[in-house]
Amino acid sequence: MDEVQIKVEKAHPNDFGRGIVRLDPTTLLSLQLSPGDIVEIEGKRKTAAKVWRAERQDWGQGIVRIDGFIRQNAGVGIGERITIRKAEVETATKVVLAPPEGVTMEFGDHINEIIKRNIMKRPLVEGDVVPIISSMTQPMSTQMSGGQAIPLIAVETEPTDAILIIGDITEIELRQKPVRGYDGATRGVTYEDIGGLGSEIQRVREMIELPLKHPELFQRLNIDPPKGIILYGPPGTGKTLIAKAVANESRANFLYIAGPEIMGKYYGESEERIRKIFEEAEDNAPSIIFIDEIDSIAPKRQNVTGEVERRVVAQLLTMMDGLEERGQVVVIGATNRLDAIDPALRRPGRFDREIEIGVPDNDDRLEILQIHTRGVPLSEDVSEEFLEYLSQHTQAFVGADLLALVQEAAMKSLRRALPDINLEEDEIAPEILDILSVGKDDFENALRE
Ligand code: ADP
Repeated sequence: MDEVQIKVEKAHPNDFGRGIVRLDPTTLLSLQLSPGDIVEIEGKRKTAAKVWRAERQDWGQGIVRIDGFIRQNAGVGIGERITIRKAEVETATKVVLAPPEGVTMEFGDHINEIIKRNIMKRPLVEGDVVPIISSMTQPMSTQMSGGQAIPLIAVETEPTDAILIIGDITEIELRQKPVRGYDGATRGVTYEDIGGLGSEIQRVREMIELPLKHPELFQRLNIDPPKGIILYGPPGTGKTLIAKAVANESRANFLYIAGPEIMGKYYGESEERIRKIFEEAEDNAPSIIFIDEIDSIAPKRQNVTGEVERRVVAQLLTMMDGLEERGQVVVIGATNRLDAIDPALRRPGRFDREIEIGVPDNDDRLEILQIHTRGVPLSEDVSEEFLEYLSQHTQAFVGADLLALVQEAAMKSLRRALPDINLEEDEIAPEILDILSVGKDDFENALRE
């Protein structure tokens, strides 16, 4: 066979940003591929990736795993199909990279070298988004936090129109001027940033992403997609994260309302603000409005309900009732306690679906740790087994706690290294940055606190 069509699934945390596609042995055999080969991936667009063997549990499932960047480069979403074929590859003589709009970068002296090291041996096609993992990019100060990747766009390549690999001969040029038209998936949260919560994500996608992307399916079947969904569960478990990811992956606008903050306004201001946000959402549809701590806006009436709450709830209900049935604006409310919300909000046509976002189990915690350490330079003693050990010794930790643990461990390693660093220098040299790494002891000390 020359090519196969196959369904796309999300990548494992460790594969994020590495430009690889995981294929099972049957697919490898039928395309006569070996791990390390480069394949062309075609969805609405064409791109390329390096082949790796799939993990055993994925064999025979008819799926491939690729990350959010490759999905964007191929113009496909999770659950859609791509065509894969063996690629003819050439070594690039030149690649011009530029940031997408909205990503600010500072260019240090060593930046070209750092980027080249980061993307060495990786295949790309002109127009691709190329992720640079942030542990390698300290000299660029960006708004990205650890574990995220900084996207750059391959705006020009030589040769053009070919599947290219970066090699020793490749000249890398970095342009400061941002490129338009690449906002959205390039900088936001993707499903790969969420550990665990597989079936919860699945439900959110069916309820929100599907109607936003394909309203015609719902019209044809005469089903009304939900206008409102409540995500409930303890703080720091990823409710906001899921909402952002689904907005990003469905290319919808994300509008955020902090419940307590909106209640602190002067007379009439809260309602006005809600009205404005809904108008903005409708004008720029598809949109997702996220109301954090919705119980502070709409508490159950038997609890103390003041005049303000009544007016704000009335306004929210009016706006929701006024939304068209086509599902192009979806409101997600988040709360720690489902039973603290005004029941009027949970009637049909309003917030009539709910999804529990619970605390992570052992496996989920491992995945969350992998996600938050993937942009962190780890010492050799931080093995996969050690991360497993950590996940088993962090019972009752939620995602936000695990993030805090990783950050605290990183701070400990920094404090350890500080005496050797000359802070008077304008820019700390890459050799010094290379020495910085977070070790087992740093994690154990962080855990002890
Ligand atoms: P919530 O909205 O449930 O209070 P957030 O989504 O704001 O929680 O989580 C705060 C931070 O904690 C996130 O930005 C993320 O870094 C981390 N986090 C929480 N849950 C997860 C998860 N399931 N996977 C990965 N990171 C998580």
